[in-house]
Amino acid sequence: MKKNKPHEKTNGSKDKPLEKQIRLLKSIVENLINKQAIPIIDLLVGKKHVNEFLIAKKLKLTINQTRNILYKLSDFGLVSFIRKKDKRKGWYIYFWTLNTYQSLNLLESNLSRELENLENQLKNRKEKRFYICKTCSLEVTEENALLNDFICPECEEVYQLSENKENIESLQKEILRLKKDIDLVRSEREIEEGKIEKKKTGKIKREEKKKKILRAKKRATNKKVKMKIISKNKTKKKLHKKKKI
Ligand SMILES: [Zn+2]
Repeated sequence: MKKNKPHEKTNGSKDKPLEKQIRLLKSIVENLINKQAIPIIDLLVGKKHVNEFLIAKKLKLTINQTRNILYKLSDFGLVSFIRKKDKRKGWYIYFWTLNTYQSLNLLESNLSRELENLENQLKNRKEKRFYICKTCSLEVTEENALLNDFICPECEEVYQLSENKENIESLQKEILRLKKDIDLVRSEREIEEGKIEKKKTGKIKREEKKKKILRAKKRATNKKVKMKIISKNKTKKKLHKKKKI
């Protein structure tokens, strides 16, 4: 029987997708910017309109360094901001929010690219032979080994056929793990999409209602105006008649 590793949580599975999502998001931030920017995700997840001065303080960065990171993230659509003027100091303060849907979208496409890459590697491993110089621990394709007459140009050791089995197994494992991550991100992205759709239809419905009320009001005033004109005409006619007499 397999034992669970101590760091693996078996309970609290409800929190797990979010934790995983956060971990993946952090890896993206590290790739896009640097390690320093990673904690920004913890500061933004599950919150709205986070004061940039607070972020700077927590990250132990200057406000300009902090803004640079946030601007870069916003270039990728990962965060958005609102700004408010500080009446006392006269400058603008930016408040940042993580764009969950955009983040998931970016995650999904990055992971899919990674998967494609691994699947290509696996295909190569299965179809092609590789050679290795055990002295330099350098691996080359069969074509390159052939070009050098199966002798390592660095140390003149004879190349040996590289064992593909282990590589194939580890690639397969990684592919499986990646597919799970993609499934998770996709389902989360679909949930967010549903939320956005709901908001949109809610907005449309509210606007339709407003328009309906407006139209009804307009009709009512039109009616009033018509009534007034009619009654005016009537009184005019009456006056006319009176004058005639
Ligand atoms: Zn060598």
